[in-house]
Amino acid sequence: MFVKKAQLLWGLFNGDYAFAGPFSATVDITDRCNLRCPGCLYHSPIINKIRPRPDTEKSSDISLSLWRKTCDELYAHGTNTLVITGEGEPLLYDQVFDLISIAKERGFFVILLTNGTKLDTRNMRFMVESQLDVLRVTIWANSIAEYRRTYPDADLTNYHRVPLNLKELAIITDGSEFRLQTVLLC
Ligand code: SF4
Repeated sequence: MFVKKAQLLWGLFNGDYAFAGPFSATVDITDRCNLRCPGCLYHSPIINKIRPRPDTEKSSDISLSLWRKTCDELYAHGTNTLVITGEGEPLLYDQVFDLISIAKERGFFVILLTNGTKLDTRNMRFMVESQLDVLRVTIWANSIAEYRRTYPDADLTNYHRVPLNLKELAIITDGSEFRLQTVLLC
């Protein structure tokens, strides 16, 4: 650890060359999303920086082969934590649990970020089997009215369903190393 920190520091002083890889890497696995948050850089109907994609269009999803290559290269450079996120919702990617399993086989600590709308009993069980370390769920609302404003096109039942699913997940994972982090922004 000390050697790696020294290498990172040396790279900062050098400015032209990195002598070690990062401790943590954030990997974007898809740019599809099922929500259209007004404040989103990628899917906001207001900002409209990029063309919002239908949530079924898979052309930009990371391939399993590129994921394996990415894991191998990061591991070789001493990275120990992978954060799975996207310019969209990672749980729309139907092989996301395979990605997690591959990363865990390589020895990474894995964190998955989600808007929580795709959590259900089936994929929560897959999540546990994949040995995910941390699930981080972000909900930008503390009331149904706030939820309606923040997610104008979303199914309003999500507001109650997501916390219920998280309670179920807490029961499923009770006693394990798994950590659930809910970020409530309002
Ligand atoms: S859930 Fe995230 S990626 Fe999807 S629209 Fe909202 S902020 Fe953007």
